[in-house]
Amino acid sequence: MRNLVLILGDQLDFESSAFDQFDVQQDKVVMIEAIEESTHVWSHKARTALFLSAMRHFADALRKKKIRVLYRALGADNDATLAHGLAATIVAERPQKLIVVEPGDRRVEAAITQLCDTHACPLAIRIDTHFLSSKADFARWAGKTKTLRMEFFYRDMRRKTGVLMEGHKDGAKPVGGEWNYDAKNRKSFGKGGPKDVPVPPVFAHDAITKEVLALVESQFASHPGTTANFNWPVTRHEALAALDDFVVNRLPQFGPHQDAMWTTMPFGWHALLSSSLNLKLISPREVVAKAESAYREGAIDLASAEGFIRQILGWREFIRGVYFLDGDALKRANHFDHQNKLPDWYWTGNTQMNCMRHVIAQTMQYGYAHHIQRLMITGMFGVTAEILPQALCDWYLAVYVDAVEWVELPNTAGMALFANGGRFTSKPYVASGAYVKRMSNYCSGCRYQPDVKTGANACPVTTLYWHFLDKHVETFAHNPRTALMVNNLLRLSDDERAAIRVEAKRMLNNLDAL
Ligand code: FAD
Ligand code: SF4
Repeated sequence: MRNLVLILGDQLDFESSAFDQFDVQQDKVVMIEAIEESTHVWSHKARTALFLSAMRHFADALRKKKIRVLYRALGADNDATLAHGLAATIVAERPQKLIVVEPGDRRVEAAITQLCDTHACPLAIRIDTHFLSSKADFARWAGKTKTLRMEFFYRDMRRKTGVLMEGHKDGAKPVGGEWNYDAKNRKSFGKGGPKDVPVPPVFAHDAITKEVLALVESQFASHPGTTANFNWPVTRHEALAALDDFVVNRLPQFGPHQDAMWTTMPFGWHALLSSSLNLKLISPREVVAKAESAYREGAIDLASAEGFIRQILGWREFIRGVYFLDGDALKRANHFDHQNKLPDWYWTGNTQMNCMRHVIAQTMQYGYAHHIQRLMITGMFGVTAEILPQALCDWYLAVYVDAVEWVELPNTAGMALFANGGRFTSKPYVASGAYVKRMSNYCSGCRYQPDVKTGANACPVTTLYWHFLDKHVETFAHNPRTALMVNNLLRLSDDERAAIRVEAKRMLNNLDAL
């Protein structure tokens, strides 16, 4: 054999650079379902099922193209680790070279590199052309700057790609004159709640998916979550259908509703495309192009189009750049030196805090929560409850169907937990229960009261928020983005602040009981 091409579970793309110069006569593909990928963090059953079903469908599609696929399956080969399965294949096939596209997890890249060294197998790691900005592009853009801001990166990406731009190349301006229309976005639903919530498309389970769901339920029976609601695209065909459905039925209202939360609404107007993008079933170029066309054809307004495109062209590319620039440091980062253990109820939802109970229950049912649920409910609590960042990072990597380390780690450690001290965020994302009350209906069904800071009904979100401000008052007073919060804190009397400290200490000492 000439080249052995390793396709990882999140590289399911026919256009991948892995297939450049692929010769069906001389080359083969290897795909490996390794137990470790579901156990190195205690993965949600739906996450494992999605990866396995999508991998098996992709292998079938490759075979239809006459590509020879060496497929090492769970249940049959039961490789403990990717390295184990790969070593067995290299020994059996003796390829002249192993080819792989840049893995989205440094742990996996290190394992492959080491294995090739051990077996004296030449290794070619190819650039992941799925992304619009390469690692090198991003490193050049970031330079030696200490603080990175997504907004400036995003504007460069708009200029570079011409997306939502008008006028000549050099003098091109953003369509509509502004780069960002968030002032028109991010509204709450008000007391009446959401109206006419669109229902996402249903993807019927074929024989492959049925087999995988049964395998996961038996092999990973004790793992968190359920596959009972499994409805994620597992093929490119399904992912394209999901994209079309989103653009027609949800994107028009995406902007105004993207931050709002409601107990009866797990998905709202969100795209539900992150898992398809991260598995590479669809590309960011085609997603952005669809959204831009919908705007240019008059089907959606500019605020929704721009707000959505910023997530893909801006945030998604930026986050990946940060991962490869700062990954090792991010894994260890703990700016506030938070050491609390993750409460057990993060895995069950068995807490009296209705906001947390609801978001965690939804997460366990679907392997999904939208951005604000991740950032301002489970993430924000992690900061103010002083939970060890690494414990929360493992949780986020385990429980979401779209979780791959390159995207999970910067979002969790960097954005939600401020563990890197604000390398790319200007302040910690923290708020009191008043924010949760405004943006959701969680508080109306809660045993706690969002505006109460101390006493039996004190809302932990609120108490721990004030305690966090109180504890870091010196630092936050000097940051223009947090100075207003500090002013509000300084309006409290010394007695009130002392009582908050006592209440917070009680809560922090027994997070499991909240
Ligand atoms: P929408 O809200 O409809 O957004 C559209 C698309 O924009 C998404 O599909 C996604 O591809 C992209 N996007 C939006 N925000 C981000 C972002 N901050 N980073 C990267 N891409 C973004 N996203 C993941 O894909 N995998 C993760 O493991 C992940 N972990 C997260 C952990 C935390 C603590 C936080 C705060 C965010 C995390 N995100 C992660 C980002 C974001 O929450 C999800 O991409 C989004 O909720 C996916 O749902 P959706 O497809 O309906 O997205
Ligand atoms: Fe969450 Fe507090 Fe509201 Fe309860 S009262 S739902 S704990 S913010």
